[in-house]
Amino acid sequence: MKSNHRSKFFRVKCPDCGKTQVIFEKPSTRVDCLVCGRTLAYPSGGKGNIQGEVLEVLE
Ligand SMILES: [Zn+2]
Repeated sequence: MKSNHRSKFFRVKCPDCGKTQVIFEKPSTRVDCLVCGRTLAYPSGGKGNIQGEVLEVLE
């Protein structure tokens, strides 16, 4: 089911340190900034709850 759905990745800018990080659009676990540890995305069932600024969508 939904096998034709293409998953995306977001390039997100950390609001605290400004570092960019690539995050899966539907993270299964919480994603933290690798530099400062701020949470950048929470899992939320369907689409992830992205906390930072999305600079780019990667398909
Ligand atoms: Zn950061």
